[in-house]
Amino acid sequence: MANKCPWCNSENNSRFLELKDYFLTQENFEILECNDCKLLFTTPCPSPEKIGDYYKSENYLSHNESKKGIVPTIYNLVKKINIKNKFNIATNSQQPITNGLSLLDIGCGVGDFLNYAKEKGCKITGIEPSEDARKIAEEKLGTKIFSPDELQNIPDESFDIITMWHVLEHVADLKTEIHHLQRIVKKNGQLILALPNYKSFDAEYYKDKWAAYDVPRHLNHFSRTSIKNIFNKTVLQLVDIKPLKWDSYYISMLSEQYIEHSNSFIKGILTGCKSNCKARKSGEYSSLVYVFTKK
Ligand SMILES: [Zn+2]
Repeated sequence: MANKCPWCNSENNSRFLELKDYFLTQENFEILECNDCKLLFTTPCPSPEKIGDYYKSENYLSHNESKKGIVPTIYNLVKKINIKNKFNIATNSQQPITNGLSLLDIGCGVGDFLNYAKEKGCKITGIEPSEDARKIAEEKLGTKIFSPDELQNIPDESFDIITMWHVLEHVADLKTEIHHLQRIVKKNGQLILALPNYKSFDAEYYKDKWAAYDVPRHLNHFSRTSIKNIFNKTVLQLVDIKPLKWDSYYISMLSEQYIEHSNSFIKGILTGCKSNCKARKSGEYSSLVYVFTKK
């Protein structure tokens, strides 16, 4: 069966990269580029029954706060600084009044971003696929966290702000997800998408070992071009693109570990630094945050 683009259904695609699940299973995958909308997508796409197996690792950092070692320690420290930065990006156009804003974080993990938003006076809602992470977040926030199945039950025009921090690359059914995003954000409300950027210097440098390809957990791989092509067909208007500058260091350090060179920490820092320097001109940072407003 021909591979169809998960966004535009086109069967017109080219091979972009052959790579492995270096993080966990060492299985082989391919990334294809849709020649029509320019979205990259992972193939084979694991079945819904099997995809959970690829997340079964104690090393999956987004849900793991207690792991020891230099990379997790820095990751957790930077995460705290990042949360403040992310909140400022998410609320930029509505500052200084964040009190009372309704905010949905999709893929909220253990709830750290929501916790910060709650402290700032937002009315928070969270969605998270991992049951373990949901339990931790619920305890932390004192509110129910929903599973992704609940997205379809959310009434139209429910939220001032919807955030997805490194989540849309994991979503198998892109069309349904974007349909609901358009529907549940309020008019003039904001959608915030943070995504890895394979046009960055660190991606080009590490090639198949770039940690943010992270197949098959990442099923979609976006660029500024494909994001514009995809959202041009929606009521969500792209109004700003901002960098997440810490991600280049973190992703580079992880990528160095896949190469198994010595001094992966130092080398990762250097490559991350070089990536950010080059991106000052090109705009192609390792991670980009896309800010949309509902028309
Ligand atoms: Zn396409």
